Amino acid sequence: MTETRMPFRAEVSRLLDIVVHSLYSEKEIFLRELISNASDACDKLRYEALTQPELTGEDTEFAIAISIDKKARTLTISDNGVGMTRDELIENLGTIARSGTTAFIEQLAAAKDKKGDVNLIGQFGVGFYAAFMVAQTVEVKSRRAGSGESWCWRSDGKGEYAVEPDPKTERGTDVIVYLKQGEDEFLDVERLRFIIGKYSDHIAIPILLNGEEKPANRASALWMRSKNDVTPEQYKEFYHHVAHAFEDPALTIHWRAEGKLEYAGLLYVPGMKPFDLFDPKRRHGVKLYVKRVFITDHADGLVPPWLRFLRGVIDSEDLPLNVSREMLQNNPMISHIRRGVTRRVLGDLAKLADSTEAYAKFWDNFGAVLKEGLYEDEEHREDLLKLVRFRSTHGEALVSLEDYVGRMKEGQESIFYICGDNAERLARNPHLEGFKSRGIEVLLLTETVDDFWPTAVGAYKEKGFKSVTRAGEELGKIKTTDGTTNETEKKTEATGDLASLIALVKLTLGDEVKDVRLSDRLTESPVCLVADEGDIDIHLERFLKQHNQIKTPSKRIFEINPKHALILKMAGRAGASGASDALGDVIWLLLDQARLIDGEALADPSAFGKRVNSVLATAIG
Ligand code: ADP
Ligand code: MG
Repeated sequence: MTETRMPFRAEVSRLLDIVVHSLYSEKEIFLRELISNASDACDKLRYEALTQPELTGEDTEFAIAISIDKKARTLTISDNGVGMTRDELIENLGTIARSGTTAFIEQLAAAKDKKGDVNLIGQFGVGFYAAFMVAQTVEVKSRRAGSGESWCWRSDGKGEYAVEPDPKTERGTDVIVYLKQGEDEFLDVERLRFIIGKYSDHIAIPILLNGEEKPANRASALWMRSKNDVTPEQYKEFYHHVAHAFEDPALTIHWRAEGKLEYAGLLYVPGMKPFDLFDPKRRHGVKLYVKRVFITDHADGLVPPWLRFLRGVIDSEDLPLNVSREMLQNNPMISHIRRGVTRRVLGDLAKLADSTEAYAKFWDNFGAVLKEGLYEDEEHREDLLKLVRFRSTHGEALVSLEDYVGRMKEGQESIFYICGDNAERLARNPHLEGFKSRGIEVLLLTETVDDFWPTAVGAYKEKGFKSVTRAGEELGKIKTTDGTTNETEKKTEATGDLASLIALVKLTLGDEVKDVRLSDRLTESPVCLVADEGDIDIHLERFLKQHNQIKTPSKRIFEINPKHALILKMAGRAGASGASDALGDVIWLLLDQARLIDGEALADPSAFGKRVNSVLATAIG
């Protein structure tokens, strides 16, 4: 068989372009990436060999060898790991298999010079391509463990690559980097030793440099070392390795559990939001090891879905080494570990919460995920309620439920919230006017999960959660800041002209609304739509409608503000001369306005347009 040439997939070409030209300020990290891949390959084979020992045969000592050829100007990174078949070479090095990648690269290309966004790239397995920062050509010679064939993949990183049979006889992979002019520093043993020490010391497999016997790294699992024995730099580098991340972690959690089950945990809360945080599969990023042997990235149940942003390693002493990945599901030891992990992480998050700024950053990244725990994990609800934070009408800073309850007004029984898409816009919603006039704080909820947990949780410290769209009755009982309650006003409700107006509005809108009432919540706006006490919250209903969970929306109560100039004028007209076309137009326009402010679509945009025009014509008139 001879050489086959193939083009890179389009997204790989674009990625290569970005990597080579603008990605990393420090080219030396290409070595870290290649070592990281070699280490992963050894981990994979060690796992496969648990059930198929013939795959490793005699050769069970895993190692990564780095050799320098000054004459040929090459650097070779060899491992005796799992290796790749011809198909795997093509699949792994010629495409980027992960979902969402193409969209991501588009985004990246647009943000080329913004280092922050560019950091995200590690999550996409760009790792290998980093070699092209220093290489004019890269060759990957590989033999899959258990296979009788070897293959060589070769590319100059410019659009295509070639694959051909290779004479290599041992299993594993040699990555041969043909250095570009000017990159001679990577032919210097001491320079390489320094780079390995800096980025790869935590790699648990020995890295043998240029034929030396003593490894250039410590070659012991970092998570098994005692805390005093690990420097902050080493923790950070290990994070970069396990999380495929480049930024500093927000939190490093390293502990050893003893007792009924023994395990070591080294977990990180990332400093940035992973791109697939809201992937419907909700998979976590914690690797499971058993006695230093890598078992799987995807141990279901090892970490609750609402902590899926965690990265790192759990290494169990008790699980059997031959545990199959499938057997892990519903394994009682795994559930036991999950509880321990959860307790530990929640404890450390509670400590992080003492530092307002750092916690705000964490919250911004992962708060929405943590809140999923509020409704799906009753066991940890109490702890989670202490950790949740909100935007509120009280000011810019995030507030806790404890803060909120501490500021509740006399006579206030519920924790009020409003759901919507955008906190700034919510803060201006007419529903809040009656709360403002009473100095009552309202939580501004903008996440999809916020539509669900308040009902599931019910209450915090016996204060029920209540949507402002259903707060009418309670609001009426609380004093406004100028000292009045609305009870008295309510009694004078629908008399005189206002009664005529209400009758007219009811007649005009007919079945469009459930009822028409005077409002005690509005101060500045003429009208708003509210849900009846027992009805579903407006925002939640919209969400359910979008997801086809409900077909016919429930009708709303149309509230009008008896103090608003426009309403008073309308009432005067209604009292004096009853119905008119002009008054009808205004009533319909007010209903549409209320819908628009709630973020709803207009039922009939062209009718809306006609009415606006006729009202405008009269105004100029
Ligand atoms: P990542 O390591 O994040 O998956 P890389 O770009 O570093 O992404 O590598 C792409 C893929 O190529 C790896 O997932 C792996 O399947 C394969 N690969 C790279 N280097 C090796 C190696 N030395 N041995 C076996 N497979 C490798
Ligand atoms: Mg990699």
